[in-house]
Amino acid sequence: PPLVSLQRVTKVFANGVTALAGLDLDIRAGEFISLLGPSGCGKSTALRIVAGLAKPTQGRVTWPTASSLDHRDDIGFVFQEPTLMPWANVADNVWLPLRLRGLSKRDAQGRIAKCLALVGLEAFADAYPRELSGGMKMRVSIARALSVKPKLLLMDEPFAALDEITRFRLNDDLLRLQRELGCTIVFVTHSVFESAYLSSRIAIMTPRPGCIAAEIKADATGE
Ligand code: ADP
Ligand code: ADP
Repeated sequence: PPLVSLQRVTKVFANGVTALAGLDLDIRAGEFISLLGPSGCGKSTALRIVAGLAKPTQGRVTWPTASSLDHRDDIGFVFQEPTLMPWANVADNVWLPLRLRGLSKRDAQGRIAKCLALVGLEAFADAYPRELSGGMKMRVSIARALSVKPKLLLMDEPFAALDEITRFRLNDDLLRLQRELGCTIVFVTHSVFESAYLSSRIAIMTPRPGCIAAEIKADATGE
């Protein structure tokens, strides 16, 4: 059975926009799956629904093999912007999810160091976000997401804001990380290259009525 299964998931926002119309998606344990599609086709919404950050209007999300009721404990989320706390140093940023789970700094110390080492930032534990490059901030975000030892790592266009070289490096680092950790990764991107380079499987999402990309396509083809 899949790790997570989305069945006929529809999401209509309060403003009437339909972000997803009957999405069927299985996420298999251990895979690196990309959600690939144009802006506005509902990739982020699908990811947020998997994370439990948004509720489907219709349809079901199930975790067939999970024993715990709160699957959010097993999820790490990496957003497009690094969303680090500017007033806290790197170590404290990585500590945050552990702190929210009641772990003291002292008890979290080993885990924080390990996660920073995984992303090659062990020397920057005391640095502040403003002192880091964009790529380094993204690495801190990844370390923070990994701190809870997630079974499932959800990444929403994580490298979109980075320059191409940094992006290449992070792609390779991410592949290495997944091999080392064995976690399942769902990676949202609109880059055909990135999805082909990274993933073991690609779910292509097409524009639906009510989303911007569909309108652009309609204009371009005159349909
Ligand atoms: P097509 O219009 O190409 O025939 P389908 O409607 O058959 O596409 O979609 C194929 C699968 O992809 C369906 O299971 C559908 O749930 C899913 N899908 C693709 N893109 C989206 C999207 N933007 N929103 C919801 N589901 C999607
Ligand atoms: P993608 O990640 O593929 O760019 P999104 O999931 O962000 O797509 O958005 C899908 C559609 O839903 C878009 O038309 C977007 O404008 C709309 N949308 C996303 N979030 C909201 C929201 N909170 N309220 C209203 N509309 C939204």
